[in-house]
Order: sequence, then C-alpha cells, then structure tokens
Amino acid sequence: MVLVFTDAAFAGHVTPPGHPERVERLAAVDRGLAGLTVDLREAPVGAVADVLRVHPARYLDRVKAAVPVGGWAQLDGDTFLSPGSFEAAMRAVGGICAAVDAVVLGEAKTAFVAGRPPGHHAERETAMGFCLFGTVAIGAKRALDHHGLSRVAIVDFDVHHGNGTQDLLWDEGRCMFVSSHQMPLYPGTGRPEERGAHEQVLNVPLRAGSGGAAMREVYERVVFPALEAWGPELLLISAGFDAHADDPLAGLEWQADDYRWLTDQLCDLAGGRVVSTLEGGYDLDALAASVAAHVGVLEERGR
Ligand SMILES: [Zn+2]
Repeated sequence: MVLVFTDAAFAGHVTPPGHPERVERLAAVDRGLAGLTVDLREAPVGAVADVLRVHPARYLDRVKAAVPVGGWAQLDGDTFLSPGSFEAAMRAVGGICAAVDAVVLGEAKTAFVAGRPPGHHAERETAMGFCLFGTVAIGAKRALDHHGLSRVAIVDFDVHHGNGTQDLLWDEGRCMFVSSHQMPLYPGTGRPEERGAHEQVLNVPLRAGSGGAAMREVYERVVFPALEAWGPELLLISAGFDAHADDPLAGLEWQADDYRWLTDQLCDLAGGRVVSTLEGGYDLDALAASVAAHVGVLEERGR
C-alpha cells in the first residue's frame, strides 16, 4: 500500500500548446498507477505558513497577483500561469505536507504526490523552469519545523539540477540535499563544488548518454554511503522521470528499471519512511512506465 495524493485541480494548471509540462501528463501518471494498491487521497490546499518557510510573503503575493483571468501570464521563458495555476501549485504544497504528516505520524510508510506544477527549480523569489513553489523543500521544512524532526534528506533524481531546492535549503543544516542530474544542461547549476552552508549539499553531475549503469555506480559509490552517514529520519524524493531514454528534454538514457532499482535502494534509508513528489518527465509513455516502476516499489515497501 502506498498513499497517493492528487486532485482534479492539478489539471487546472494549463500551459500553452506545445509546452512539455502539460495536463496530459496527469493521465500518464494515472496509467502508471493503474494496477497498484493505492490509498488515494485529496491533496489539500497548502497552508500559507508552510510556503512562507521558504518563500517571502512578497513572492507569494506576486505569484498570486500574476494569475490571469483568462489565457496565460508568463513568468519566465518557459514558466506560465493560467487561471487555475495558483490553486494547483498550492495543492502541490498541501499534498506534500499532508504526505509528510501521514508518514511522520506513522499512518503509512510511503507516499507519492501526483501533482503539478513541479517545484524543484523555484528559488526564493524566482519562478522558473515550469516551477512556482519549492514543494519538496516545503515538505522538508514541514517535517523539521512542524514535526520537530532533526534530520531529513532529499534526493532529487530529475534529470535537471534542483537549483531551487538547493537555493531554498542552502543554509538548512538539518536537511541533506542530493541532486543527480545531466550536466551540462538547464539550469546550469549543480557543480560538485556547490556544497551548501553546512556541506550538506551533494551534487552529482552525470554525462549525457551515460545510462543507468553510470547512475547505479555513482549512487552506490558516493550517494548511498553519504545518505547512510547522514542518517535521515525521513527521506523525500524529487521524482522527475526525464532522465528516461525516451524523454525529449534530456539524454541520460535511463530505463524504467533504473527507477525501480533506485527507488528500492532509497527505501532502505530513513527506516523506509519515504515521501516522493512528481517533478519532470515529458514523454507520456516513459512517464507512465517510470511512475509504475517507482510507485510500484513504494507500494511494495509501504506494506
Ligand atoms: Zn527535469
């Protein structure tokens, strides 16, 4: 069993025709979840107080004020708002906070938030890369500040560097942040030299075309030992599936089975308490297969 948080409002975040981060991704995620035993729950609207742990109020107000009555508003080269975007983004926040609550309180071992827009590129006062609010960082702060956990970790295996999460948690000595990503690639950050204020950030760049074998090697040699040494009480995952071989935005050449392997290894950490949230993944069939692999492991390990 795995908790899955979702809501019809996630389809209310509409991007312009041709945009890769599109409503149809939700149906692909649903296809990936079909056949799994999930406890499906509504992703509630997030609390402003949870957002304000990582973003200043003026940024929240600016995003809200920018929401158009019809059509689109554009926040950067590829980040758009439609009339339903604010509610969708706030439910992505609420979904991860509810998932953290459930797992920290022992109601479930594993949870997945099937929401959009994604969040890991959003910096303190900058929406970018399809992202509005730093959802996974907000979830980590919820675990630390609301529940009083002392050590958590985030693993971001989206093919792009989680620059937003890194920015929001740069000074957060209670949260280890690991990002593996293709480099060079958007957004351009994520060099190994970027270590965080407390040396709690671990960036693992991977070369285009390096494939699942290179990923497994570096996780086994570098990432898992670092996470074991950190000893998190809760593990959060920024689950982007755009490292898949069929994804149009990148070229790391992973397969669905690589997500299965990686998820299984990650569930050996933090006493198996794992909260995952959807980030990228833009080939619909690859997204469905990768979600089936990833959430399938969360289901097995959540029993
Ligand atoms: Zn991505």
